[in-house]
Amino acid sequence: MSKKVQIGKVTIGGGEPIAIQSMTNTPTSNAQATLEQINALAARGCDIVRSSVPDMASAKAFKTICEKSPIPVVADIHFDHKLAIAAIENGAAKVRVNPGNLGGESNLRAVADCLKAHHVPVRVGVNGGSLDKKYAHLPAAEAMCQSALEYCAWLEKYGVYDIVVSVKSSCVRDMIECNRMLSRRCDYPLHLGVTEAGLYTQGLVKSAIGIGSLLADGIGDTIRVSLTDDPVKEVDAAAEILKAIDLYTKPYVEIISCPTCARTEINVKELAEKVREYTYGVNKNLQIAVMGCIVNGVGESAHCDIGVAGGRDKSALFKDGKILKTIPNDELLQALLQEIDKL
Ligand code: SF4
Repeated sequence: MSKKVQIGKVTIGGGEPIAIQSMTNTPTSNAQATLEQINALAARGCDIVRSSVPDMASAKAFKTICEKSPIPVVADIHFDHKLAIAAIENGAAKVRVNPGNLGGESNLRAVADCLKAHHVPVRVGVNGGSLDKKYAHLPAAEAMCQSALEYCAWLEKYGVYDIVVSVKSSCVRDMIECNRMLSRRCDYPLHLGVTEAGLYTQGLVKSAIGIGSLLADGIGDTIRVSLTDDPVKEVDAAAEILKAIDLYTKPYVEIISCPTCARTEINVKELAEKVREYTYGVNKNLQIAVMGCIVNGVGESAHCDIGVAGGRDKSALFKDGKILKTIPNDELLQALLQEIDKL
């Protein structure tokens, strides 16, 4: 089992619930815009958020962001160790660095000293696309694994042991294989993700396979789904991956909706989406069905707490597998929401 690492108020590793992460895409120098996005992500279930700190203006705004954020904020740093130090001093719950690009040993040591002084953990991030040339002769997964462990050893040399490791590749198979190797060769918590996964559908599928297959084998402690899209969708996708393999530990509302067919009598997609939107943030375990017809709808979703099955002019509202009443279709959404509120 991996060791536990504390990221602000969130503990990862050691069998703790898998933490969902995302990343802001607002300019970090704009604290207000970044905080608005962080609040939206937190409301959707994001546990830890990361923001890039590319310059000192961002490092300054980062202080306000950390103070006001409802969830721990991680600073993403490249190249400039002074930015890492500024972010740690300004309240970062963790910093993500590539120890190989901080400009040499004395800079890394300065960052390590600052991490220890502030009791802040670090994520060692290795990206398949930017590996040291000395690993070029190795297969990609082995190369990423060796590189990550070498970076961990550098930090350990300076007394830093609160480490989270991530190896990311846009190749799902390499990412899976490398994380399997790491889980055998170290006990640091693993941050899972497929990098540059792409637009929504492609990114979702690659992440679900890469992250999901590792989690199903008990590997991984925190996850980030990377999408070329609204970060809120990353959080939704991460939550769905966890739910699909029974690793989501918070209460949640599951919407069961039929795929529709020639029997469909109502706009299932629109109704299901509205119910989905309405029930984000409802802190209860519920299953709500939206089914297109009465012929199969009630029977197919009999296990749900509540639901509707479409009819031509009126639809059936059912609870615990039994029809409660029939409702004119134009009042269906309202009636369903009212019943949900009563649960
Ligand atoms: S529930 Fe009815 S409308 Fe929906 S897919 Fe099944 S048969 Fe078709």
